[in-house]
Amino acid sequence: MKEKELSLCAQRVQAAQRIAVLTGAGISTESGIPDFRSPSGLWRKPEVQSAITRETFFIQPQNFYKYFTELFLEWQEVFPNAGHLALSNLERMGKTVRIATQNIDGLHQAAGSSQVIELHGHLRTATCPKCKAKESMETVKTSLKQSELPKCSCGAILKPDVVLFGDPLDLDDWNTAQEWMRQADLLLCVGTSLTVTPANSLILRRHSDSTLVIINKEPTMYDHMADFVFHGMAGTVLPKLWG
Ligand SMILES: [Zn+2]
Repeated sequence: MKEKELSLCAQRVQAAQRIAVLTGAGISTESGIPDFRSPSGLWRKPEVQSAITRETFFIQPQNFYKYFTELFLEWQEVFPNAGHLALSNLERMGKTVRIATQNIDGLHQAAGSSQVIELHGHLRTATCPKCKAKESMETVKTSLKQSELPKCSCGAILKPDVVLFGDPLDLDDWNTAQEWMRQADLLLCVGTSLTVTPANSLILRRHSDSTLVIINKEPTMYDHMADFVFHGMAGTVLPKLWG
């Protein structure tokens, strides 16, 4: 990593007041969460891809929950890493920091960030598709451990509050995330390959005068548009940009 680039970028961060952040799986791999979209990730298995969908949930819930459990409910306890903590520190430095994340792990909030939109949902609760009642994910896990499908008191099967393939994004969240991008002086894209639509299109909503910084292990198709590109891990790069 070029020291000069880092110091120029650090100056832009210092000067920025409103900072928007778009994060993806790459910021959480350092917390031990597998990037299931990576080449060796579970997501590459066709049977997994076809199971974690809205359609499978409604038509073959047993099959859906088999893979959903394997992918998301068997993580060990996870903690925020240096990347998440650096972003919450930025807020403590007096900046307005608004994070739109594609992650469902809740680690930005765990690190202390206060303005977070979870574009792809989260693992805290499940909702009844019929009567809209909410239950905790712990309740869902308890049923699954007893080899039963998690059910609402009305009898319908509970659906995790994660955005599945085939589910629409929450429109209010999406509009707010776009607004955050438009209002930012500086946009940080961290740990995202910027390949997942529509989340990656948020980058195009930014103000043309804003500074775009991309931090990702691998190159992305938006690198050419960025003012600064650092190919590295969030937990290593972010703390170098602000103390
Ligand atoms: Zn219900």
